[in-house]
Amino acid sequence: MFCNQCEQTAQGTGCEKIGVCGKTEDVSALQDLLTHALQGLAIVALEARNLGIVDNGIDRFSAQATFSCLTNVDFDPARFDGWIRETVQLRNDLKARVEAAGGSVTNDAAALSFIPAPDLAGLEAQGAALNFISSLDENEDLRSLKQIALYGLRGLAAYVDHAAILGQQDDEVFAFIHEILATLTRKDLGVDDLVAGDVFLICSDGLSDLVQDDEIQETLLTRSLEQVCGDLVRLALRRGGNDNVTIIAAEVTEAAMHRQAA
Ligand code: SF4
Repeated sequence: MFCNQCEQTAQGTGCEKIGVCGKTEDVSALQDLLTHALQGLAIVALEARNLGIVDNGIDRFSAQATFSCLTNVDFDPARFDGWIRETVQLRNDLKARVEAAGGSVTNDAAALSFIPAPDLAGLEAQGAALNFISSLDENEDLRSLKQIALYGLRGLAAYVDHAAILGQQDDEVFAFIHEILATLTRKDLGVDDLVAGDVFLICSDGLSDLVQDDEIQETLLTRSLEQVCGDLVRLALRRGGNDNVTIIAAEVTEAAMHRQAA
């Protein structure tokens, strides 16, 4: 296994035998396999959306399943077995709907043709064989950016799922989840292709509970990257923050390729 998606990660580099959080090797493999399966579903969902086929059940499912791979959310292998099989069933059903509507899904991503093994042990072997993190990209800068995007997406999916439970949904956000999942399968990206803007910002709820999205955006637009984290932490504390306020801001430029402040 290899997982470095949270700040607890072993020795600050990655959990390789068992997670510091308690995640086991089999669960890690199943989470990787579920993410792989979700990428296949996302590719089809994007094509469906181009044809006007928008399925709220699939959108909600994609957010929930993405959320399930976040740290400490779900360590039950049997549940991942179910998620993986349902993902592939939804992918196949939606692909048939796309084709019935005159569309086609042409993509050579392995996630699109993934067939789950018949039993749990087989799924675990499939997940381990993916070497999911290493396979994101040969280029370590791109691989690092893809990891940031994936881990950020899992956090976003948690909020999307909670908001949906409370009756709030946004179709653009569901489309964004599919777009990121599908884009992470691409091997033809450069650094500037991967980022829609120039900056990634990932934070704990110690910030997001107290500072609105538009305020964070304003800070990003008006401060240097080196100032952003400090200014946002101070703003959260001024507003009574008494929780951990963790922020990572990473900027990608052609010249510097990658610089990071935390
Ligand atoms: S989520 Fe668990 S396994 Fe992954 S880095 Fe964090 S502590 Fe390690």
